[in-house]
Amino acid sequence: MNEEKTGIAGINSEELMEWIGNGFGKAMEKTRLKDFVNFLTERLWNWSRRNSLWPLHWGLMCCSIEMAAAFSPRYDIERFGVLFRSTPRQVDILLVNGPVSRKVAPSIRRLYEQIPEPKWVIAMGECAICGGPYYDSYNILEGVEKVVPVDVYIPGCPVRPEALIDGFIQLREKIKKEKKGMFLQPK
Ligand code: SF4
Repeated sequence: MNEEKTGIAGINSEELMEWIGNGFGKAMEKTRLKDFVNFLTERLWNWSRRNSLWPLHWGLMCCSIEMAAAFSPRYDIERFGVLFRSTPRQVDILLVNGPVSRKVAPSIRRLYEQIPEPKWVIAMGECAICGGPYYDSYNILEGVEKVVPVDVYIPGCPVRPEALIDGFIQLREKIKKEKKGMFLQPK
């Protein structure tokens, strides 16, 4: 914080909140209160995270039709707590379901960065995993992992709705092993 602005008269509300936040954070770290709160909240936070998996409602190519089918009453993916939202600010999961072209790659990276922690990435289908039928095309990347870290891979061309549901169950198991409480450690 700028020293001349720390004078009581010159401080504005944003700086005051930052100052209090920094002091509070340091005090919690020194007293190990942070670890204690993490320990207390870990199980509850983990339970709620793995039972409310909210992916971004976003389709790249044909696999996204299967994603839509997973929503239908026949498959009813919502019974697993999977609820699609249309803004990255409200989701936990980036579900990539098509070939990643060099043109779309920066947008995928930006969407990923806009998702708050904790967040996960699912590569749905051969295109997202390795480029699929377009693997040797000049403008297609060999998988979305070249752009963002991937947590779960779901093979198939196309991926069946049952396989997509299975992918979410795999992610749920992965989250179950993560030990993150109220104070998150970024990946
Ligand atoms: S994996 Fe197959 S079905 Fe899925 S987006 Fe690629 S070409 Fe289409």
